[in-house]
Amino acid sequence: MKKSETSLFCADTKMKGAVYHQAEILHQKCTRCQACVSQCAFLQKYGAPGDIAASLLAGDSTIDPFACSLCNLCTAVCPAQIAPGAFFLEMRRQVMTRDKLPSKRYNPILKYERRGSSRLFSWYGLPTGCDTVFFPGCTLPGTRPETTWSIYQQLKKDIPHLGMVLDCCHKPSHDLGRQHYFLTWFEDMRDWLIRQGVRHIIVACPNCYKIFQGYGQGLTVRTAWEVLAEIKIEFTYPTVPHGRITVHDPCPLRDHQDVQQAVRTILLRLGLKVREMRHSGKNTICCGEGGSVDCVNPDMAGKWGAIRKLEAGRDLVITYCAGCAGFLAKAGIKVVHLGDLLVNPEKALTGKASVAKTPRTYLNRISLKRRLQKAMKTYHEKFRHG
Ligand code: SF4
Ligand code: SF4
Repeated sequence: MKKSETSLFCADTKMKGAVYHQAEILHQKCTRCQACVSQCAFLQKYGAPGDIAASLLAGDSTIDPFACSLCNLCTAVCPAQIAPGAFFLEMRRQVMTRDKLPSKRYNPILKYERRGSSRLFSWYGLPTGCDTVFFPGCTLPGTRPETTWSIYQQLKKDIPHLGMVLDCCHKPSHDLGRQHYFLTWFEDMRDWLIRQGVRHIIVACPNCYKIFQGYGQGLTVRTAWEVLAEIKIEFTYPTVPHGRITVHDPCPLRDHQDVQQAVRTILLRLGLKVREMRHSGKNTICCGEGGSVDCVNPDMAGKWGAIRKLEAGRDLVITYCAGCAGFLAKAGIKVVHLGDLLVNPEKALTGKASVAKTPRTYLNRISLKRRLQKAMKTYHEKFRHG
């Protein structure tokens, strides 16, 4: 990798503060057992986390933290209960204190993020008496506007004053280490929602979940799947023949057995029996999107998809993240988003569910916003940004 393409965390970046402290802990606590290394191409390239930390402390390493997917599988399998993923994120933050992106290849993802919060695409529809909002994120409304609308309608049957927020949670900036920028945007949104009386967020995206869970003090967060598994919605049973079904759990939700279980409950109620893959639940793997590694190091990111493809075999993979669905499809895996399955099982199971691609995704988001504005015209609404 050329240094001009991505700035490495090299000897000229003096370690300080949190990252130095974490390096010392990693160096001392890591037993070099290789349990994480055997699972991860990034660690196979750079070595056991304890050895990476030792090299950094000695000032002689050129490790690139932007090649780590931040998936935390290493933490999940570590018998010493240490968190290498958090360490690599902290390294990214230290690189970003110079406030210059390590590669221009991140520009598209950051533009995508900025558009999500722009006046054109963002929208806040809060009916009178609303204390709960559906926050579907950026990718689901763009790729699947009809599914997003249907999920909202289903949720509203249980929560009549449910609001809807179209905005970006700014996880891309968070994961690129742009912590100050991320906090400025996210906290502004969080505080505004709380001032309007919102107390509960229902998300469809695992990344939004992670962000609200970590930084949404004053708000509770649940996934739409947990709510739908609890309420008595009319499930349409698939009538088409289908092969075996398996589930790809998105890595931001690896520690949330309650969400994983809710998804399986829904599938069971649809009459679909799940075969579990080797990497599932707590030990799930990244789809390749994590940490925006694909922007700068597609070979490294693609290794996750290759593992998933091998494990899935000929089974149909159900996932509950629109980003994962896109990356798994790119890896050649037959994949269906859970939302599409709920809204139209026959189309989903026969591979006919409508999934839009860029630039159609942007038009879809605007159409969905107009549809919501029309439906909520008597509601209090407010753009977040001028
Ligand atoms: S967070 Fe994921 S990609 Fe990064 S070192 Fe751990 S297992 Fe590897
Ligand atoms: S699993 Fe834990 S102890 Fe073993 S090499 Fe990885 S970080 Fe070190």
